[in-house]
Amino acid sequence: MPDLLQIGGVTDVMRERLEAAFTIHKLADGTYPAEAITHIATNGHDGVPADVMSALPNLKMISCYGVGYDAVDVTAAKARGIVVTHTPNVLNGEVATTAVMLMMACYRELLRDDAWVRSGNWEAKGNAPLTRSVDNQTVGILGLGRIGQAIADKLAPFGTTIVYHSRTQKDVAYKYYADLKEMAANVDCLICITPGGPATNKIVNKDVLDALGAKGTLINVSRGSVVDEAAMIAALQEKRLGWAGLDVFEAEPKVPQALRDLPNVVLLPHVGSATVETRAAMGALTVDNLLQHLSDGSTVSPVPECTDM
Ligand code: NDP
Repeated sequence: MPDLLQIGGVTDVMRERLEAAFTIHKLADGTYPAEAITHIATNGHDGVPADVMSALPNLKMISCYGVGYDAVDVTAAKARGIVVTHTPNVLNGEVATTAVMLMMACYRELLRDDAWVRSGNWEAKGNAPLTRSVDNQTVGILGLGRIGQAIADKLAPFGTTIVYHSRTQKDVAYKYYADLKEMAANVDCLICITPGGPATNKIVNKDVLDALGAKGTLINVSRGSVVDEAAMIAALQEKRLGWAGLDVFEAEPKVPQALRDLPNVVLLPHVGSATVETRAAMGALTVDNLLQHLSDGSTVSPVPECTDM
């Protein structure tokens, strides 16, 4: 059987299917037969460390469990004829739900009001202060791709006006802003859902945050690298930015204490797609890609850079 290097965890169902086709070696075990490895199963967080990729002379394919693949050096892989796959579409609805849930938790002060009940404040102090309505807001989507569109669709019943920024204008009815800062100045809530990597590094900077403003809400379900975290913390502390709902952070799983201390944030441990149902679908696609590559050299869902391979 061909040899597969497993980076990070896999589900039981994935392991069963993989064991039927591959001899599995785990990077975490420290030793593996480098010459023999032809396939890698990894995830969007762990990716493939550069020294690992360069130590595998016969590597043919990398299957990534997740749609974001910024932790894999696709340019280096492609230059060696190594095809990279990911799991688009099957997680669109789930990640969109996470974004909408964070937005609602911020607007309706879900955590504060939950604490109001648990702490006995309701009985001791009376009704909790009023919150803000999620209805009829203008929401700017940074990155109107597969998940961005799913977010727009999920917000439609709330009477939301959707506007967006991306590098290219899409064939949609929503207003397009070529300039991110200009969009931030004209929305109530900014939702980030671009890929990570150098092209989007800290594009939500101090200027964008100040444009979003004291009444603005920032939701980030993309990558921590997309937002200047230090600038965001300062803006939240100084009330130049109203609220933030965050699923992703610059140095996961480390989250700055200053951010954890803020009352105007809702923090999630990178669980955008983390439901049993969606992870099963992502796992199935991750394994489908590996098995199809084994059987005929093709793949189901290559990353855009590898569609011509
Ligand atoms: P798509 O490729 O379908 O969409 C990406 C969007 O981002 C496109 O609209 C693209 O438009 C835009 N974009 C890309 N680069 C830039 C840039 N430099 N400036 C502005 N806009 C840009 O991807 P998906 O919707 O499938 O996924 C998006 C990302 O969501 C993933 O890459 C991942 O990082 C993140 N994600 C997070 C999860 C979580 O658990 N929190 C789970 C799943 C995904 P254009 O090409 O015109 O620039």
